[in-house]
Amino acid sequence: MEIELARVAGFCMGVKRAMEITLAMADRAQGRVYTYGPLIHNPSAIELLASRGVGILQSIPERGSGIVIIRAHGVPPQERAMLLAAGFQVVDATCPKVVKVQMLAKHFASKGYLCVLLGDRGHPEVKGIMGYAGEMGCLVSDYENERHLPCLPEGRKYIVLAQTTQDESRYEAMARDILARNSNGRVFHTICDSTHLRQSETRRIAAEVDAVVVVGGQNSANTRRLVEIVKEEGRPVIAIETENDLDRDMFAGFSRIGITGGASTPDWVIDRVAYCIRTFQVA
Ligand code: SF4
Repeated sequence: MEIELARVAGFCMGVKRAMEITLAMADRAQGRVYTYGPLIHNPSAIELLASRGVGILQSIPERGSGIVIIRAHGVPPQERAMLLAAGFQVVDATCPKVVKVQMLAKHFASKGYLCVLLGDRGHPEVKGIMGYAGEMGCLVSDYENERHLPCLPEGRKYIVLAQTTQDESRYEAMARDILARNSNGRVFHTICDSTHLRQSETRRIAAEVDAVVVVGGQNSANTRRLVEIVKEEGRPVIAIETENDLDRDMFAGFSRIGITGGASTPDWVIDRVAYCIRTFQVA
């Protein structure tokens, strides 16, 4: 069995940076260290952080102490203020590329522009960006099925933004559609390069192999997007969180296998998956 391992698989810059900041805090801090929500959507990485004493703050108490790390997805400004008001020291590990989208939303909202955002409803990054847009925010969460695009009063100024992990072709289609219906709009290309590279490489690999193994947490939106891409290419997809989910029978009849992983999947998990599949060949 031939294996093609994606070059762009595993932690992206923003997740790697958030992980390094958190581990450094865990080593250095005197008091408790928490992440505000799970740092990344991957059980193996969460286990590692727990073993270093990093707790998860699921909601903001009235009073608290210690360090709270804001994860790569970012938070709405109101939640940051609540953390500080509760007495926590806040360490910001928001990915700089997410900060850029937040600042675009904040800047244009303050100038009276409506901020149309393509993003997954309920996703933390989306909540954060919408928080910066405030009352000027308008979320489109399922463009292809809902076609719920805002029709704005003639002359109303607006901008179009995307959650950093959205599918590029979907975003371009939505942006074209909204610009055709409403004049006075500006589109910003806010999809992260790493997302784009990961998705286009997954598409290429899917076209060349018999099946693709996608490694990542079940709650990871960008991992789920990779699964969708493989399906769109008409290839069988084996979606797993770790090598423990693998079974030799899954590969029956396949001679070429691709392996890719989401931005929140640790490199060590992808390496173990590749190793495990190789052992299937020699056994
Ligand atoms: S996918 Fe891109 S924008 Fe999102 S955390 Fe990673 S580097 Fe940052």
